[in-house]
Amino acid sequence: MKTFDELAIAPEIIRAIAELGFEKPMPVQEQVIPLLLNNDTDILALAQTGTGKTAAFGIPVIQQIDLTINQPQALILCPTRELCMQITNDLTDYSKYMNKLRVLPVYGGASMETQINGLKKGVHIVVATPGRLMDLMRRKAIKMNHVTKVILDEADEMLNMGFSESIDTILAELPGERNTLLFSATMPPEILRIAHKYMNNPAEVTIGRKNEGAENISHVCYMVQARDKYLTLKRLADYYPNIYGIVFCRTRRETQEIADKLITDGYSAEALHGDLSQSQRDAVMQKFRVKHIQLLVATDVAARGIDVDDLTHIINYNLPDDPSAYTHRSGRTGRAGKAGISIVIANLKEKFIIRQIEKKVGKQFLMAQVPNGREVCEKQLFHMVDKLEKVEVDHAGIESYLPMVLSKLSWLDKEELIKRLVSLEFNRFLNYYQNSRDLNQREEYATERPKIDAKRSTRSFKELRDFDSFSSRSNSSRMFINMGKVDGLYPNSLIDLVRKQMNGNRVKIGKIQMMNRHSIFEVENMDARSMVDAFGSVEVDNRRIFLKADGDKPEAARTFKKTKKRIKA
Ligand code: AMP
Repeated sequence: MKTFDELAIAPEIIRAIAELGFEKPMPVQEQVIPLLLNNDTDILALAQTGTGKTAAFGIPVIQQIDLTINQPQALILCPTRELCMQITNDLTDYSKYMNKLRVLPVYGGASMETQINGLKKGVHIVVATPGRLMDLMRRKAIKMNHVTKVILDEADEMLNMGFSESIDTILAELPGERNTLLFSATMPPEILRIAHKYMNNPAEVTIGRKNEGAENISHVCYMVQARDKYLTLKRLADYYPNIYGIVFCRTRRETQEIADKLITDGYSAEALHGDLSQSQRDAVMQKFRVKHIQLLVATDVAARGIDVDDLTHIINYNLPDDPSAYTHRSGRTGRAGKAGISIVIANLKEKFIIRQIEKKVGKQFLMAQVPNGREVCEKQLFHMVDKLEKVEVDHAGIESYLPMVLSKLSWLDKEELIKRLVSLEFNRFLNYYQNSRDLNQREEYATERPKIDAKRSTRSFKELRDFDSFSSRSNSSRMFINMGKVDGLYPNSLIDLVRKQMNGNRVKIGKIQMMNRHSIFEVENMDARSMVDAFGSVEVDNRRIFLKADGDKPEAARTFKKTKKRIKA
């Protein structure tokens, strides 16, 4: 592994990052920094949050700014205000000893006038959300003619948020002579389209599973009935008294409801979602950062860009619709070399999604048992006793009160005294858990589970291109399979399933239609028969899977009817 010196980083930047505790480059930095400093190459990087990507693009960008030109020379686009602020702060930190370098964040929901004034004063790097940048461009408040570096950070998130058109417009208006870098945790075809259209022969860099952050994360799943999710959440919060984490919910309403329930039940929690005003969100985030609250209950959108390094847990109260969102969620913990736990509270119907996520993260979930009442009480008791042992005693301050306290308690022996002290806090746990029931949803959870091949967990660039370019042709056959959306099947997992059945043969798959209980997809004629044979008698989660080619339709239809009946039964 190289040092920052060996990567030819300017001494004043090395000095600044050393103060931030950066001792050696992270893998993404080792790959990207030399490419940018030496070659001015376009880069398409598959990199998740927590990998150190901000410094990977930020350091070369600030090092290459010409301070004699008082105009934006680098433009960084990112999905949210929070991420915008975070990147700006990071770049400001790295350039601490480059006095004249100015970085300006521009994002929606804040005064446009202030941002325009900031631009007028002269800035070198603009960090922007696409919507606000478009507004500024329309008003001709920002000059782009000196921009030579454009970075799209968390590009998949920007697309998820509907910024695709804005990104097109922005990129089309920038000077042609420029360097474009794109960082994304996933590579949907739309990203490849942007790369193809606006990037010049980009170097492809994959910093996926190997990164330190992802390696440090353990993935744990608790299977419970849907109605027991909240009880499980409480039980886990009690089982980890020092928990400091984010609880992800799917909707704003659910987020608020869960946070309200937790607060009512005496937990240190707050909600963060889009129905709150910006100042309310800022206040919640501030409380969370300084650890005045232990649990932040948030939606995916609101939690984007949260930059807190020492989260102990991520709790997926509900699984995200898109498995790739799971990697964003879990990537909020296990950062900067620390260990983190990503918990999923799921029910048996969601097993298929769990499998998909396993493939995506390249790790298997530990299928854990929800702790029982006794285990929670033991944990709490130990925590209290530990606190008692470690409490800092202000001997001088307490001295004058001590005689009074001692005389009042003199009738108690040591054991009785300890019991009473501990009971002060412990009684509520004892009462609550006295008759607590087992929350685990039981079923033999696939004792023999397929091994995940970490290298295949992310679809390669080439594979995605092939997939993208396969279109309906006359030499293709339509295939029917009796699995669909209700089984948690997604196009990606369907492709994986088919290829697995075909012994890893990377057959081409074209258009995929996902129905509720079945799916239809296209394959080349030559693969159709062998595919049907390969699926002969496959079982997924104890269920028989049928695959039929177009010509076998009548039989396939009968099969589906039978399967439907069986599912209903
Ligand atoms: P990022 O993926 O850019 O959000 O970075 C994740 C975390 O890693 C941030 O807290 C960074 O400050 C930290 N970080 C980035 N590069 C290094 C490094 N070379 N050594 C130690 N920490 C780093």
